[in-house]
Parts: sequence; C-alpha cells; structure tokens
Amino acid sequence: MTSPNDEPVLNTAEAHTIEHLAATYLRNDPQWKERVVYFGPMGCRTGFYLILEGDLESKDIVGLMKDLFTFMAGFEGEVPGASPKDCGNYLDMNLPMAKFVSKRFLDNVLTDIDESRLIYPQ
Ligand SMILES: [Zn+2]
Repeated sequence: MTSPNDEPVLNTAEAHTIEHLAATYLRNDPQWKERVVYFGPMGCRTGFYLILEGDLESKDIVGLMKDLFTFMAGFEGEVPGASPKDCGNYLDMNLPMAKFVSKRFLDNVLTDIDESRLIYPQ
C-alpha cells in the first residue's frame, strides 16, 4: 500500500483499523469467505498479507481487492471488533486515515491496474 523505502509507511492505528475492516469484509464475502486463510499486516507496515486457499494468480483476485478497498474507503460507523472483548488494543484505531489510505490505494493502484503491476517483485 506504500512504496517500500521511499514513502511513509502506514501508522499502526490505521493498519490496525484496516486489519479489522478487511477481516470483517473477507469473512463475509459470499464468493471468497470459504477460501480466506489469513489477512494481516506486514511488520514493515507497507501493506498486508492475504492468504487464500487454491491455486490463484494475482489477476484472479483483482475484483476481490477492488471490492475490499471500496468497502474500506467508504466505511461508516463503529469499527467492527473495536471493543475490549474482541481486541487487545481496541483504542488504537484511526478510521479516517484507514479510509484515506484505502481510497488512495484504490485510486492509484487498483482502479486501472494492468498486467505490469500483477507480478511481484516487478
Ligand atoms: Zn484489534
């Protein structure tokens, strides 16, 4: 979600918020929920890992990524799981920044993504 070693990384509060929002979305997506193994932040805070069951290529999940980031960019209301019962650090959330960086990634990367950005590393 951020360009490694040349732009600021995600702060922990927005990364944490994205983790909660994405986990909620991915657990409920009718097409993908049964294949979601893991979603969580990279320690370097430049982005996230998503592990899905099956033999998939990046291009196979572009639709899922667009739907996920559209959901997060437009999310309103209480962050799911942001309570002492569900989370060990529930006050460390930043929904406005989570929405901002989700929209930025959607607009700058996902919306018009082409083959050149679907191979890692480039
Ligand atoms: Zn949490």
